[in-house]
Amino acid sequence: MTQRRRAWTAEDQITAEIAAACGCTLQQIADCLGRSCSTVSRRIYIPYMQKHLERSRAWHRQNPEKSREISRSWKRKNKDKVKELSRRRVNKKRLQSGLDKNTLTTEALTKAFDYFANSCAYCGKNNNLTIDHYIPLSKGGRHSASNVIPACLSCNCSKGAKNAEQWYKAQSYFDNNRLDQIKAFLNKN
Ligand SMILES: [Zn+2]
Repeated sequence: MTQRRRAWTAEDQITAEIAAACGCTLQQIADCLGRSCSTVSRRIYIPYMQKHLERSRAWHRQNPEKSREISRSWKRKNKDKVKELSRRRVNKKRLQSGLDKNTLTTEALTKAFDYFANSCAYCGKNNNLTIDHYIPLSKGGRHSASNVIPACLSCNCSKGAKNAEQWYKAQSYFDNNRLDQIKAFLNKN
């Protein structure tokens, strides 16, 4: 990785805060500042979201009537989002309650990391490895051996909830052999 290790400046902080307030995603802020997602997340996104949430919760507690009114009108105007949120909630619940019989075992995870020689299945780097859900959990993907491969933090973060194949093909380090290898591995499991 050629990630620059410049100090986090007050200017970075302000830019990031404004971007976060405008609803930019973590990836967009990271791209804009030329930083890694993890740096931005640690520096601003998590603290900002926490502060924002606390303030917002306090306001809702103090204004229960207005709060209900806003919530009702938002739901009326955002039927698609309401549906999507409820689908995500169901997915999360299914994962947490262990009702999903395809839960990931340590052995399966070890097998996946061994298969890809402890390196990122997409770019081949071997630092900051994370567990990547090939089909994102938010899109109904499973937390199971047939959907999990190792990916570096940078790839995982950049991929986000995008379609894995489309996202991968758009990267400068795209490698068809690797894609075949990923598909072969996931099909086998
Ligand atoms: Zn990678």
